[in-house]
Amino acid sequence: MIGAALVGLAYFACAMLSVAYSRSNGGVAMVWGANAMLAARLHVLPVRKWHATLVAAGLASFLVTGCFGLGWAPAPALALVNLAESAVAALLVRHLTVQYWPSRMICWMLGYGLGIGLMVPLAGALIGAGVVAKLSGLAFGPNFGTWLVGHSLGMLVVLPPFAMLACKLRKEQPLLDEGRGLRAALLITAMVALSTAVFAQPARPLLLFPLLLVLFSATWANALVALALPMILATVGGFMTLHGYGPIALMTPVHGELGIVGGHMQFLQLYLAVVALSVLPLVAERERRQQRLHELARSEAHYRLLSDHASDVIMHLGCEGDVRYASPAIARLTGHAPGELAGTPLSRIVMPAYHEAVAGAWQAAIARPGHPVAVEYLGRCKSGDPHWLETHFRGIADEEGHVEGLVSVTRDIASRKRIEEDLAHAAMTDPLTGIPNRRAFFDMAGRLEAAENDGAPMTLALIDIDFFKQVNDRYGHGVGDEVLEVFGRTAQAVVRASDILARIGGEEFALLMPDTDIEGAQVVCRRLAVAVAGMGVETPQGIVRITVSMGLAAVAGCTDLALAAADTALYRAKSEGRARLRVAA
Ligand code: GH3
Ligand code: MG
Ligand code: MG
Repeated sequence: MIGAALVGLAYFACAMLSVAYSRSNGGVAMVWGANAMLAARLHVLPVRKWHATLVAAGLASFLVTGCFGLGWAPAPALALVNLAESAVAALLVRHLTVQYWPSRMICWMLGYGLGIGLMVPLAGALIGAGVVAKLSGLAFGPNFGTWLVGHSLGMLVVLPPFAMLACKLRKEQPLLDEGRGLRAALLITAMVALSTAVFAQPARPLLLFPLLLVLFSATWANALVALALPMILATVGGFMTLHGYGPIALMTPVHGELGIVGGHMQFLQLYLAVVALSVLPLVAERERRQQRLHELARSEAHYRLLSDHASDVIMHLGCEGDVRYASPAIARLTGHAPGELAGTPLSRIVMPAYHEAVAGAWQAAIARPGHPVAVEYLGRCKSGDPHWLETHFRGIADEEGHVEGLVSVTRDIASRKRIEEDLAHAAMTDPLTGIPNRRAFFDMAGRLEAAENDGAPMTLALIDIDFFKQVNDRYGHGVGDEVLEVFGRTAQAVVRASDILARIGGEEFALLMPDTDIEGAQVVCRRLAVAVAGMGVETPQGIVRITVSMGLAAVAGCTDLALAAADTALYRAKSEGRARLRVAA
């Protein structure tokens, strides 16, 4: 309500000044900024809250026309035309600003210039001059022209600064940027002084200089000040020109229906329209840039927040694999401070054995930008300790496909690797004896076979516990298990570290002896037989002792063949009375 009353008062003052100082030949006023000011206020209010403001402004218009202008007869109709003009302009400027400001400035300018600067005042002028002709008996033509130019100028010069002012007040934003008050005061003073100087003397046409000051202010001062300067120019210039001062008075007098002053005023208005329209795109461009900068700063802060608090390390790498940026999590993963790695190669945090794999991965990511490439490797901590890491690389390309660098995400996979290793170990180990199982045996044998050890001899022994079924039957399965366990330990203690001992069946074991010929293997087997003979498992029913039968065969390239031969030899050892060693023929 107070707002509406204030707008009403401002409208009254503005309209009264226009009527008092800018009427020529008793017609409508030549300068009319009141509607623009009202439109600026309306455009920040929701339409359902317009009524109080419209009533206050309508009353102001009615009183001014009645008391100081064309009289009471046309006053109600002119008040309605003024309100309609302001309302349409407010709706239009709001629509244009929401749609186009400041990103699509051309559309905004066209809509603003043609719609608000021309069409709205044109419609107002048609009806306004019609009303004046009908109710006051004045000629239609001159009043139509005066109304059109006066109101159009109001919309072009007064609406932009007031619209911005209304927006700022509504959003409770500071009117001037911090620390820019002096600049604003300086520019306003300069504009008052310059326009007074330009319009006080009739000798020289210096109209270009105020325009230059306005353009300069658009880049140097805040937008509100830049938009307000044409208004100051209009006020000073209008006042002086009306009183016959200034360079426009140099022009050949126009003896039209408006009189000399009217002709001069219309030229001044054209000049002011040019000034106002020149500053708008500059201000918009600056607003757009500032908006972008804000967005950029916001998104930068956003990404920094993510990168600073992510538990994975986010890195930016150059095309040579050099670290440009590493997020703070690098300290936890490698012990390096984030800034410490900048400018150094990524290989600094990779164990030498994995340099090639890691370089291959980031090179592949550069070759296909946008496609992630993952690599697992042993990373190197600052202390030199190895540490399992996994990195996903992704090449970043610009719009033309030129690769500018890489982003990578690195995470600690030590615990995953540990689980994987534990699982692999469990899958390869016999749980009862703790020695490799059948699968591990064939896996290792296959690898030894593939290694083709330059013709070095290799021998395979198959070892089977004699009469083991009887152990189970007599002492129970638990004791049988214990016997297997003790045998495993005993045999493991006898064989060499390079030999591979595995449990390949219930009570059947295999022993693969690399770099060992049959003679050497026989020595090992005899040593084993001696150890087994000395081995005993205590039970309540007495000590359990076992013997083993063994079959030996040389491995000549193929483990499967050697296995079959050793099995035949074992069978012979069994059939010849057990507790003995037989060598394949
Ligand atoms: P041979 O001298 O001919 O080798 O006679 P054996 O009794 O040792 O051979 P056989 O193949 O008849 O019996 C092997 C026994 O081993 C049968 C099975 O119950 C037992 N066995 C196999 N695996 C295990 C195990 O993990 N624990 C126990 N306690 N016994 C097992
Ligand atoms: Mg047996
Ligand atoms: Mg057996």
